[in-house]
Amino acid sequence: MQRLIFPVLLLSLLACSKSDDASSTTNPTTTTTTTGSVNITSVVKAKFASSVTITTSGDNIILKCDGRPNHKSPYYGVGNALYEPFPAGHSTNPNGSIIAQNYTMTIPAKPAAASTHEETSLGAIGLAITGAPIFNNNEGGNVALNAGTITSFDAAGAHPAQAGDYHYHVTGTYTTTDDANLVGFLRDGFPLYGRKDKDGTYPSNLDAYNGHTAATTEFPNGIYHYHTRNENYLNTGYYILKSGSYYGTKGTFTQ
Ligand SMILES: [Zn+2]
Ligand SMILES: [Zn+2]
Repeated sequence: MQRLIFPVLLLSLLACSKSDDASSTTNPTTTTTTTGSVNITSVVKAKFASSVTITTSGDNIILKCDGRPNHKSPYYGVGNALYEPFPAGHSTNPNGSIIAQNYTMTIPAKPAAASTHEETSLGAIGLAITGAPIFNNNEGGNVALNAGTITSFDAAGAHPAQAGDYHYHVTGTYTTTDDANLVGFLRDGFPLYGRKDKDGTYPSNLDAYNGHTAATTEFPNGIYHYHTRNENYLNTGYYILKSGSYYGTKGTFTQ
């Protein structure tokens, strides 16, 4: 199946690899030649924070950023324009503050289901449109977040790891709370949304990867997408994506 559409893919993607802003002219071509898969390039370019540099190469999209979110956090430190205090009962972890990283995430422009579904692991499983990585519900040592760890979350359900590398574990202010917001894209190129669908209801047909195919605000013709877990974690927030497997084939994420 994939081989049949590959030449078409190559042609259209070569056309849009010339420059960053060529998508407006080339995307109509790529979307009309799809046979089930959806080209995410124009949405990726439109929705990520301006701190994320987006280019295309072949049939991939390359996102580069320093991992610092475009919203407030206590981990920016007092005096920083993006500083805000911790939520009640929360306080800093020993890692202290947000430090700029050098991230590159490469994802397919036309994400597709994988024949075997690889488990998510520690570290970045995707990138939020805010410009910071998404982690699953495990911490160093591959243990689930515990009551001690979660008090280090800021209002966004995030905190920095040892290298100052800020990341989300649960939902929160600035990403999604109880809504159908686009949170970001996982490493397999499929988008991640809040707990609701665009019609305001909680989806009832989610698969083992916590996703399904349906229309979203950004993809009105339908796309496979993940939802954040509708499962409140120790009253702190909802898992942004509980440890599980990717629906598609994961791309690379380097730092
Ligand atoms: Zn963490
Ligand atoms: Zn949905």
